[in-house]
Amino acid sequence: MSLVTPEPTVNFDAAIVGAGPAGAVLALALARAGLSVAILDAEPLDTRLAETFDGRAWAIAHGNMLQLRALGVAEALEADGQAVSAIVVTEGERPSAAGRSPRPGFLRFDAAEIGDETGGAPVALMVENRRFRATMNQALEAAGVTAFAPAQVEAVEPGPASARVKLTNGRELTARVAVAADGKASRLRTAAGIGVNGWSYGQMGVVGTVALSAPHGGVAHEFFMAGSALAVLPLTEQRASLVWVEPKARGEALLAASPEAFEAHLNRRLGETLGPARLVAPRFGYPLGLQIAEQMTSDRLALVGDAAHSIHPIAGQGLNLGMKDAAALAEVLSDAKRCGEDIGSTVVLDRYARWRRMDRAAFAWATDFFVRVYGSDTPLLKVARNAVTGAMNRMTPVKRFMMLEAAGFAGDTPRLLRGEAL
Ligand SMILES: Cc1cc2nc3c(=O)[nH]c(=O)nc-3n(C[C@H](O)[C@H](O)[C@H](O)COP(=O)(O)OP(=O)(O)OC[C@H]3O[C@@H](n4cnc5c(N)ncnc54)[C@H](O)[C@@H]3O)c2cc1C
Repeated sequence: MSLVTPEPTVNFDAAIVGAGPAGAVLALALARAGLSVAILDAEPLDTRLAETFDGRAWAIAHGNMLQLRALGVAEALEADGQAVSAIVVTEGERPSAAGRSPRPGFLRFDAAEIGDETGGAPVALMVENRRFRATMNQALEAAGVTAFAPAQVEAVEPGPASARVKLTNGRELTARVAVAADGKASRLRTAAGIGVNGWSYGQMGVVGTVALSAPHGGVAHEFFMAGSALAVLPLTEQRASLVWVEPKARGEALLAASPEAFEAHLNRRLGETLGPARLVAPRFGYPLGLQIAEQMTSDRLALVGDAAHSIHPIAGQGLNLGMKDAAALAEVLSDAKRCGEDIGSTVVLDRYARWRRMDRAAFAWATDFFVRVYGSDTPLLKVARNAVTGAMNRMTPVKRFMMLEAAGFAGDTPRLLRGEAL
């Protein structure tokens, strides 16, 4: 995307601060709906295309794929992505799962189980962040979104008719509504006086990409071991993205270990199921916690994505939740604009806040419950967990409900998540 030098004052319908996945998807949805949109990011947009920038890959749920299809970017992502046909959750052994077959209590989610609702689509599409970014940058430019990057935003000042978005370099622009898509440590949220609730899990998520020695068949694996979890998520070219969750000190040791020591440790975990695997990209570490903003909106400001809620990556739902925010906010703002309303007014922004309240709380608490139940080493809980996990495989309606929730079909779904244009 070409970088644009800002005029001293520019008027937009929406100024989105943060060009991460939530901000970029929102910008595209608003631009496609005919709003004038500015997107600002502290980092040059091209930086995040490098393999050395961010090792994460996204499991984009089916409902979110419908959203991306409605925005015209699904085909490009599918060309670079890996379809996930099933998710297998296994209770593992520590420290060596080598040679052991999965416990009888394992749980399997197959795309076919909700095929009647999804038209046989995969459970999710795995896309590397850098490839997601490249596709979004092209689409934003084609849709006429004005990008300011690098441009660090210092503050947003609400006024009677617009918000002033002030940059650290002294420049500013104005927009009817400003959006904080500036991530977990959101400066805009803090500046607006919006507090957060939550806690740290004392864990680190270590992310890496490996080449597998056997075909993964499009199956995503989640191995749970006492106090730790390992997700092995299929990528193209017989590779996999790892999200390895460990208590902080062990996570730091995994990051600091030589590639050979890391691989040896990993391959003991993977055992015969998937190993041996070889690292093919740098490792990254992320501290993990739960954080929920007390409000989704303030004067002429709406929060989306991790600025509004940051959850544990155990179920791979954080970004999907942020994309749902983007779908709901884009629908509220574009409908209000069509009706001639002031899109930054409290009455309009309240519609968005009310719409997202229940869904984000449900996801946050469900994820937290999952982290606690599967992260515990208490013997009694382990027995109960194994029994429930095994039984769940046979409880078809419960499994279906969980899969439809994760696919993004639950509740009052925004139009984009049903694949409809705004
Ligand atoms: C290990 C790990 C694995 C994960 N795996 C998955 C998964 O498989 N599926 C899934 O759905 N989710 C996953 N998540 C969650 C996902 O990473 C986040 O939910 C997602 O990145 C949030 O996107 P965002 O756009 O809200 O924020 P971010 O990606 O944090 O983007 C914020 C942007 O704002 C910019 N910015 C910040 N401050 C300013 C400022 N003052 N001025 C201008 N710009 C600013 C930053 O430069 C950045 O580009 C995972 C998370 C972790 C930690």
